[in-house]
Amino acid sequence: TGTLMKGKRGLIMGVANNRSIAWGVAAACAAQGAEIAFTFQGEALEKRVRPLAESIGSTLVLPCDVGDDAQLDAVFDTLKAEWGTIDFVVHAIGWADKAYLRGRYADTPRAAFLQAMDISCFSFTAVCQRASAIIRPGGSLLTLSYLGAERVMPHYNVMGVAKAALEASVRYLAADLGRDQVRVNAISAGPIRTLAASGIGDFTYILKWNQLNAPLERTVTPEEVGRSGLYLLSDLSSGVTGEVHHVDAGYHIVGMKNPRAPDI
Ligand code: NAD
Repeated sequence: TGTLMKGKRGLIMGVANNRSIAWGVAAACAAQGAEIAFTFQGEALEKRVRPLAESIGSTLVLPCDVGDDAQLDAVFDTLKAEWGTIDFVVHAIGWADKAYLRGRYADTPRAAFLQAMDISCFSFTAVCQRASAIIRPGGSLLTLSYLGAERVMPHYNVMGVAKAALEASVRYLAADLGRDQVRVNAISAGPIRTLAASGIGDFTYILKWNQLNAPLERTVTPEEVGRSGLYLLSDLSSGVTGEVHHVDAGYHIVGMKNPRAPDI
């Protein structure tokens, strides 16, 4: 424990359970003294999120489907009423119809494309619009991406296209909010076995491939992504904005299979 986040208040969106990347970030920030509010998507997840929130002393646990402007408004109205200002937001939300997270990207229908773009990309902009009205100078906004934004990954398909747009939006948002000393960054995380990941075709193979071929010869944990998130949310990264920071055991630098890796 420490005091890096002492006096800072923030919202963490995207906890589904204790394996969620959002929970890794929450735990790292709470250990450094942050005061945290959470959102959950739907009643079924409230049962999981509320006890986790309470375990770190949080009482602000609010419903929010990011596809619904009224629910987004309600969350930020509540934060304004309860706290007045905030210092950070974590957006760890992504979704695409899993029928299209396999096979060919070329077969994606319009409706699936638009839904993936809405929930996985535009929702971060929608969050930043509302957050920027109550965030203090020095504040930090963070989203989560994946290497499938930059390079073709089997099965990632429409999510890769949405993540590419999300990463571009990080840069545009960073440019717009910089004048108010608000920073906007993304973490591009390596594969982690979470609820969202289980929707991706052949995820076990992707995990194994990364484990064998990443420079660190392993995958990353939600705790590791959490600590890198802590850096981007804290004043340690006060000079950093518009960045997509890879937390992937180095996999993004690799051009070929690790000669040490066995065939799988
Ligand atoms: P997760 O399933 O724990 O979290 C995904 C969250 O998105 C859930 O809490 C879910 O409720 C929320 N969500 C989905 N649709 C929503 C909506 N309409 N409104 C509100 N919330 C909604 O999985 P995770 O892996 O922790 O995912 C968090 C983020 O990390 C996602 O953006 C994901 O794409 C990204 N990511 C994950 C991996 C990985 O391998 N797990 C790698 C890189 C990036």
